[in-house]
Amino acid sequence: MSGIQLHPHDIIDEGMPQIIAYIHKLKDVKYVFPEVNTIFERNPYPVGKLPRNPVRDVVFGTGTMHAILPSYEASGLDQRREPTLSAERDPLMIIKEAMQDEPFEVIPWLNILNGHFEGALLANNLVTDVYGQVIPHWLCPNAPDVIDFWEKAFVDLYRRYGFTSYMIDRIRYPDWAGEEVNPRGLLTCFCSHCQEKMARQHLDVNAIKEALQTWSMKLKEKQFDDAVSHAEQNAHIQAWISFRQESVSGFVGRLIERVRKVNDAFTIWLDLWPPAYSWMLGQDYAGLTKLSPALKHFPYHKLGGGADVQGLIGYLADTEQEQEEAFSAFKRFFHLPYDLSYKTFQEEGFPIRFVADQNNIVRAQSDPNTRIFSGIQMWNLSPSNLIEAVKAGENSAADELLYYCYGWAADELFDAIQSYREKGTN
Ligand SMILES: [Zn+2]
Repeated sequence: MSGIQLHPHDIIDEGMPQIIAYIHKLKDVKYVFPEVNTIFERNPYPVGKLPRNPVRDVVFGTGTMHAILPSYEASGLDQRREPTLSAERDPLMIIKEAMQDEPFEVIPWLNILNGHFEGALLANNLVTDVYGQVIPHWLCPNAPDVIDFWEKAFVDLYRRYGFTSYMIDRIRYPDWAGEEVNPRGLLTCFCSHCQEKMARQHLDVNAIKEALQTWSMKLKEKQFDDAVSHAEQNAHIQAWISFRQESVSGFVGRLIERVRKVNDAFTIWLDLWPPAYSWMLGQDYAGLTKLSPALKHFPYHKLGGGADVQGLIGYLADTEQEQEEAFSAFKRFFHLPYDLSYKTFQEEGFPIRFVADQNNIVRAQSDPNTRIFSGIQMWNLSPSNLIEAVKAGENSAADELLYYCYGWAADELFDAIQSYREKGTN
């Protein structure tokens, strides 16, 4: 049974009756994932218009919380509330009430470590790069107030709305994309809490910093292949990669433990990067899936698996020759065994087998009991490309599909899936 993601503006602007009618067209949707707090993102991304929104063509997410919760300002860390939120315009309550007599299960979707956070203690909780610069809007999983904030938010969400199952996203360190491409976000985290934790584990913080700066220098000097070898062979960089993974898994484990003390029905699903990249962003499938019954990842081949590959290559390399060298090193670093040039990638993306390859790796790395949702891109592509991706997801080790996302998907894409489900064709 599939799932589909919604944004708060879909619920407020379009209304649930229309949304429900469209979701029924997909035939096998069981789970609906309304986003509760937004990220800094254009809707739809990166271009285009919202096809059915009667109020606005484009919505810019501003990292706000779209649920009615008490203020946590006094404790020093909170997330900015969406200014348009009110008892009448409360998207999570609206969807909860609209779904009472529908055959769907609502699983609220929360972005955990990235958003418009604020409060007197914010600066003490932000991710910091190897040069000592903070990364705005990113919270560190090792910082002291982050878990307290989320424990309170989960418990208060449960009290007001009654949900006990949630999907958690952005449980990782920053990637290189965002408002602008910046690989500095990868060279993290060196906040005081992380440095103290590294020292307690007898890691040599200065040696790690030097190894990362050498790596960064090699990339700046366009020695791409050499940079990959350096990262793969350097024990300090490998220890830093493990440290990040343990930090994220530890945070998720502690969060689940804390909320289950309040109510043991709390169930947390995971939104992860595809395994090609996840390990580099602090996500270890083996460790994380011990904590969760289900996960979603997004292995869409044409978009490079959700990673802004072209943004990174364009940042690192100038000439066509350099770009080919950078892409070749990129494929080596992320274990992408595809014999294609950067030029072909720009035109066509990765080959379609990327979808099944990534799902099969997820299956192999995950706990045998974890249900795997393969994310399906449902915007900015043709109906035939959509059905091709649906089939690739179905013919892989993934258990289910998760359509991303309702509000960005044109009518023709709903029609294509309806036709495929009813007639086996589109
Ligand atoms: Zn940190």
